[in-house]
Amino acid sequence: MSFPIFDYVGRYGFKKVVFCNDPATGLRAVIAIHSTALGPAVGGLRMWPYSSEEEAIFDALRLARGMTYKYAAAGVNLGGGKAVIIGDPKRDKSEALLRALGRFIDQLGGEYLTGEDVGTTLDDMEMIYTETDNVVTLPEHCGGAGDISPATALGAIAAARACATRVWGTGQLAGRRVALQGLGVVGGKALRMLHEEGASVVVTDVDEDKVAWAVREFGVEAVPPDEIYRQDVDIFAPYALGGVINDETIPQLTAKVVAGSANNILAEERHGDELERRGIVYAVDYVANSGGTIYDTDRLRRGGFHRERAMANVRRVYDRIEEIFAIADAEGIPCYRAADRLAEQRIAALTGVRLLGVGSR
Ligand code: NAD
Repeated sequence: MSFPIFDYVGRYGFKKVVFCNDPATGLRAVIAIHSTALGPAVGGLRMWPYSSEEEAIFDALRLARGMTYKYAAAGVNLGGGKAVIIGDPKRDKSEALLRALGRFIDQLGGEYLTGEDVGTTLDDMEMIYTETDNVVTLPEHCGGAGDISPATALGAIAAARACATRVWGTGQLAGRRVALQGLGVVGGKALRMLHEEGASVVVTDVDEDKVAWAVREFGVEAVPPDEIYRQDVDIFAPYALGGVINDETIPQLTAKVVAGSANNILAEERHGDELERRGIVYAVDYVANSGGTIYDTDRLRRGGFHRERAMANVRRVYDRIEEIFAIADAEGIPCYRAADRLAEQRIAALTGVRLLGVGSR
């Protein structure tokens, strides 16, 4: 194999990589445990028809490391991990295969806890749960937190508030103009919050039914998907896809703030630099969208799930974003880099572990 795996896991300080092989069920999976410095490693289970083993291993490693940063920067005392199953979820998934993986996870004795991701569902988690307690995202009837999207929306709005405070000196969103892209389970809830606070929202979605719902329910203005970037607004709020801040869209933006729940908002890191150069304040995606994660991992804390505590911590996304700004200002670095620094500093302060020894990701 050309991929120098020990080189990579050594450079980035991975704790453990487990290869799961179960010929009886056809299971071929990788569990990557990046860090357990702050707590057990948590991260979703992805099932994907990877074109090579190398691609699957690298995906597990990359995603596990991302989870370490996500939890640490969000102030959650968990480590980063990820599991991937090589296979087509539509064709190759079976109860036997999922339960085989559940037994591998159980053997790790609580060092790794799993959850939903691309190619897996809450039903799959319930199946894995028959073999191991070490499952985070579970339906409510199994003791899980249930729907996390309200918490994700609340956290993303808190992130927008922190950005607003930086730009306009107040986190109040009343009277602000917001371009909201994506009216799905999170975007729909964010729209309700913005509307209730008195923001003026222009929306878009590729799903016409959702647009019709938003117009009917809130009397908002709607525009076609490719026109959302150029709206004359204060805040651009991406709640749909990744990669939406790119060479094509940045020149269209009039907004002073980019804050939403979408993952991987920047097409490339250099687009984060470009936002900075234009004076556009960016709520780093993996912190802005951490509300759901903060909410559903609350059940791992002492005493079990406590809704009020979970929601109070979701609101603290505001403080995390402010901490990112403080680091960015002090070190003269863009926010997307400052978020990584925040994570590294938190792990170092609490555990003495220096994640990389080579600065940022
Ligand atoms: P969703 O699938 O319910 O909603 C996404 C919406 O975006 C859909 O209504 C879809 O029609 C729309 N959309 C797709 N392409 C579009 C385009 N080109 N222009 C405009 N609209 C488009 O997903 P969700 O759970 O609401 O998540 C939204 C984003 O937030 C995703 O990027 C997701 O990864 C991220 N996120 C969600 C959660 C959560 O709690 N659900 C947590 C963290 C991050």
